[in-house]
Order: sequence, then C-alpha cells, then structure tokens
Amino acid sequence: MSRYSIVSLLRNSLSYHQNWQRAWRSPEPKKRYKIIIVGGGGHGLATAYYLAKECGITDVAVIEKGWLGGGNTGRNTTIVRSNYLWDESAAIYDHAMDLWKGLSQELNYNVMYSPRGVLHLAHSVSDMQEIWRRGNAIHHNNIASEFLDPEQVKGMVPFMQMEGRYPVMGALLQKAGGTARHDAVAWGYARAASALGVDIIQETEVTGFDIKNGEVQGVRTSRGDIACERVGVVAAGHSSVVAEMAGLRLPLESFPLQALVSEPIKPVVDTVIMSNGVHAYISQSDKGELVIGASSDAYNSYSQRGSFDIIEDTLQAICELYPQFSRMRMLRQWGGIVDVTVDRSPIISKTDVKNLFFNCGWGTGGFKCTPGSGHVFAHSLAKGEMHPIAAPFSIDRFHSGALVDEGAASAVAH
Ligand SMILES: Cc1cc2nc3c(=O)[nH]c(=O)nc-3n(C[C@H](O)[C@H](O)[C@H](O)COP(=O)(O)OP(=O)(O)OC[C@H]3O[C@@H](n4cnc5c(N)ncnc54)[C@H](O)[C@@H]3O)c2cc1C
Repeated sequence: MSRYSIVSLLRNSLSYHQNWQRAWRSPEPKKRYKIIIVGGGGHGLATAYYLAKECGITDVAVIEKGWLGGGNTGRNTTIVRSNYLWDESAAIYDHAMDLWKGLSQELNYNVMYSPRGVLHLAHSVSDMQEIWRRGNAIHHNNIASEFLDPEQVKGMVPFMQMEGRYPVMGALLQKAGGTARHDAVAWGYARAASALGVDIIQETEVTGFDIKNGEVQGVRTSRGDIACERVGVVAAGHSSVVAEMAGLRLPLESFPLQALVSEPIKPVVDTVIMSNGVHAYISQSDKGELVIGASSDAYNSYSQRGSFDIIEDTLQAICELYPQFSRMRMLRQWGGIVDVTVDRSPIISKTDVKNLFFNCGWGTGGFKCTPGSGHVFAHSLAKGEMHPIAAPFSIDRFHSGALVDEGAASAVAH
C-alpha cells in the first residue's frame, strides 16, 4: 500500500483523484485465524494494528457488524486527556497520550490530534477540592497540569460568564489534552492494519461463540463460522449482549449518551471547557461548529437516540456559562450507547472462558484512550497474559473490591 505523501497527492491530482487505491482491503473471511477481534471501532482496530505491528501476529481478522467507526468511535465529542485521579488510570490514559503525540506520523494518516488544552472549571468549594486533589495526584505521576485562578480563566475564555449562579472559582488545565478527529483514528488504524495483513471484515455480525470444554474455538457470524485460537471482544455499547452469547454476565449498564453541534461560526473557543457543576462541556470543531456534550440518559437502553430533556438541560447549562450562545441554532444531535461500570473504569480482562478476552466498559470516555487501550490489549492477546498496565482493570476487581473509582474525573467530563 503506497504511503500518503505530497508526491502521491500530486500524482493523483493528475488523474483527477480517480485512481486512489482503497484505504483498506475487504477480503472474504478465511475459515480460520489466529486471533479474531469482535468490533471494528477505534479500540478494536488499534488492537489489530498493534498485534500486527508490534507482536508480529498478522493472522488476525476484525469483524464488524456495521461499518468501521459507526459505533461510539464516530459518535463521540473527540476529547483527549489523561487527568484522572488514580495511578492505575494515569498509567493507561497517559500511555495513550504518549501514543497520540506521534500517531499521525506512525500511521501515515492525519488523525488531527490537537493539544489545545482541556479546562475543568470549579464553581464551588467542593469543585475546588476535587480539582486540587486530582491535579496534585497526577503531578505525582508526572502528568503536567496547572491550576488557574479566575483571572487566568477569563484570560483564556474572555466571553465566559464568571459571576452569577455558577461563579468560576478556578480551573484545572491540562495543556496536552485537546481533541483528535474520531473517524480518522478508525480509518488510520484500519488502513495501517490492513497494509500489515489484517483482514477487516465489515457488515458481518458475530452471533455466537464456539466454546468446547470451557475454551473458545471460534465465532459464529452472519457469514458462517470462523475458527480461531483466541478472541478479543471490543464491542462497546453491546459488550453485555456479546458476553451473553458466551454465557457470561458483565458488571455493566448500557445508557444512551448524546451530543450535539451548532451551526458553524468563526473561531471563538480555542480550548476544551468542561464543567461538572453546570453539567456540560464545549469545544469548537475545525469547521466552526460548537461541539457540545453532557451526561448520559438516566435509563438503560440500546436505542441510539436519547431523550429530549437531556438536550434541554445541556443547552441550558451552556447558556448559563456563555449567554451569548443562546441565539445560536443547533445543527445536529445524535446518541451512542455507552457501557458503564460501577467505578467508571474500563474492563480489560480475561474471562472464565479460556482464550476469550474482553475490552469494554469505557463508558463515556474511552475515545481518548484508543491508542493506549489497543496497545495494551494487543500485547495481552498476543501473550495470553494481561499487560501490566491493563492488569488493574481485570474483571476480578468487582469480586476483590480493588475498584479504580473515577466517578469524579469522568462525571460529565468525557
Ligand atoms: C455522545 C458521545 C460522546 C463521547 N465523547 C467522548 C469524548 O469526548 N472523549 C472520550 O474519550 N470518549 C467519549 N465517548 C466515549 C467513546 O466514544 C467510547 O468510549 C469509545 O469510542 C469506544 O470505542 P470502541 O472502539 O470500543 O467502540 P465502538 O466504536 O462503539 O466500536 C464497537 C464496535 O463493535 C461493533 N459490534 C457490536 N456488536 C457486534 C457484534 N455482535 N458483531 C460485530 N461487531 C459488533 C459495533 O458495531 C461497533 O462498531 C463518547 C461517547 C458518546 C456516545
């Protein structure tokens, strides 16, 4: 597969861009693979890429029931950061940050990682205590962040409403945080994995598992059975549905989570601003749309829509902090299904079925960890043993009580 470069751009412009090669192959599924990944979102594709690139395992298929990135990968609000509270979280989320920095070059695909900074606002004494605690905790893990006073916040976002119902008392800023282009991440990993020999099989649903003597032997799909030695399930939103096919129950709840974008306007927000207090966050896309997100719906559901009261609450919250946006029109709204654990940390784990692994439960905030998650999951699948960074996120923690409680760091902030 040829590299994207100025030369390939010029060459293809001569033929009016009619002869670009396909970004990834679409082969017929083979009868057998060494490793099958269920789910062609960013995490699944990243896993396949690192399996091929770093573990030397190219006999891999990614099986996706829809199209690549059509799940939460293409539905999220693209925020990237690593300012979680606990050491275990710092290890995995900051591992991802390290990978984000060179990802476009590594994949030869512009994932538009934009370290524009992420601001977490504090509106009360308890908010201040939370950001101080978290900011100091991540400093111990060498993750740079800064505390800003109200003057400094105002300097960064001049149009923010600093007084009133939700006074801004300070903020935690992670400068390396920001955004990345979500579907480019899926496409970049897909292209690079395919070039290394991974088979990407879209529009094929996994409908069951072939399990003998407690060990997985393959998957059943809408296009027939496929044998394999090991399976990694990365099916965010439907992890419990897939787990049930193997007779497993996961400690997950599935909720709709919504987001919306406004009509495009000239650049006004050059950072990401989050507020757990008013319960909304905002950034601006390169096209000029305000990208707005909030909390998940309060009920369990698999409908990728969400309810109207969340939209109303979210827009009210945005208008509290930025009254001038009250006159803007919203362009699009959508929802995705997020699988949430009780401690708001992911599950990256073996299961009771031998050679059947799960990577799920990323809830409202897994996009930022796509490279880190794929990287440690690939190494775990290759070895059959969990990577040290992944080990604390084993499903066993729900028995042992060794939870990694990120409730505050992942509240409305995604
Ligand atoms: C509105 C919204 C905003 C968000 N904002 C952020 C944010 O700003 N920052 C952040 O870090 N995170 C955010 N998230 C969370 C983030 O999107 C997810 O945690 C992350 O994208 C999960 O990636 P994934 O690759 O595991 O899942 P997905 O992209 O959902 O991939 C899973 C894939 O599995 C496939 N699948 C399911 N069942 C089967 C089956 N039986 N057979 C075959 N394939 C199957 C699905 O079709 C899907 O494509 C947000 C989520 C939503 C919904």
